[in-house]
Amino acid sequence: MRLSILHEDFSVEPRVAGSPDTVKRLVGLGAEVVVASGAGVASGVLDADYQSAGATIAADNAAAVKGADVVLAVRRPTAAQLAGVNPGALVVAIMDPYGHEAELAELAGAGVSTIAMELMPRITRAQVMDVLSSQANLAGYRAVIDASAEFGRAFPMMMTAAGTVPAARVFVMGAGVAGLQAVATARRLGAVVSATDVRPASKEQVESLGAKFVAVEDDEFKQAETSGGYAKPMSAEYQAKQAALVAAHIAKQDVVITTALIPGRAAPVLVSAAMVAAMKPGSILVDLAVERGGNVEGAVPGQVVTTANGVKIVGHLNVPGRLAATASQLYAKNLYAFLETQIDKASKALAVKWDDELVKATLLTRGGAVVHPAFSKAEVVAEVKPEATPAA
Ligand code: NAD
Repeated sequence: MRLSILHEDFSVEPRVAGSPDTVKRLVGLGAEVVVASGAGVASGVLDADYQSAGATIAADNAAAVKGADVVLAVRRPTAAQLAGVNPGALVVAIMDPYGHEAELAELAGAGVSTIAMELMPRITRAQVMDVLSSQANLAGYRAVIDASAEFGRAFPMMMTAAGTVPAARVFVMGAGVAGLQAVATARRLGAVVSATDVRPASKEQVESLGAKFVAVEDDEFKQAETSGGYAKPMSAEYQAKQAALVAAHIAKQDVVITTALIPGRAAPVLVSAAMVAAMKPGSILVDLAVERGGNVEGAVPGQVVTTANGVKIVGHLNVPGRLAATASQLYAKNLYAFLETQIDKASKALAVKWDDELVKATLLTRGGAVVHPAFSKAEVVAEVKPEATPAA
């Protein structure tokens, strides 16, 4: 069983899909692990560290994937990047499938089986494989650090001989995984923290972290959580009530961190240009939803925008990648936890359990076709290779 770890394009992705720890564990399961040279550099891992863990180093991605049965990556590789893999190889990454049906069809045409880690069901057994949580948690932390770096004032209250400095006021919008970590981080830095969400369950979580919960708690709010634990899109009427409440609150804040998302849809706009205009000069907004359309009007993906009234809107891309070493360590562990369940310990061979609910939920392509029900209308564009059973 040959398993390769790709070198990502560092201009957009500094993370890496393997750590010395996971390489060692995979070697322990009988895998021959090949890492593309330099793959870990942006996460602080050298080729020599992977070698000490039992991997061999390939000159580049093309050499790394040659003869591979499993390819691990952070972002979806192109079909061309996978040339030379064994027929039916398993490719595991954050596949970002929505809106990329053509790329999926190409991967199907290359004959590989692809697993989208972000589609992993949020059930207890799969918590250790949950890349959305491992990465969102870090994004929430980093959003507060990025806000403090842009903010011209201190976060904690300070009583000094030269005078008293008030604590910063931080408001977190969207109290899921990222938002709750942002609340906790801002609290640790000494800020006065409040947070909002449309899911009633988040109220207790926010309050247990010592922050104030601010929300329109009407009948619609009481039913805003789906059975899967996600937020529903809210009615125009609710959004208007929410905007009125939030507008008054935001005007008094120093820092606003937005994390609100609705699965499969554009992010809701929660902060209007008028609300930004009402904030004090020097205030900071960090929009963690900027890659999904943005929660803040005026946020620009990849930029820090300063408005006419001196407010900064931070729209960094790939925020988990801004903590690449930690993000890679946790992502690699998520991948390992999944793979471990798909390797036969006795024969030390890949033995994908196609009927397993984890595989069914995440499998995008197999045997030349796009097989995931949400994307199976994608047209297969390239030649289909037969799928082989991986050798023991
Ligand atoms: P997410 O990234 O989809 O969204 C972030 C937050 O934005 C959510 O809390 C959502 O309610 C909120 N939001 C959406 N629209 C909003 C609006 N108009 N105004 C204010 N807030 C809005 O969510 P997530 O962080 O992935 O978490 C979703 C849920 O899944 C949570 O209940 C979380 O506890 C749960 N979860 C469960 C597991 C597990 O069981 N394995 C793992 C992780 C998360």
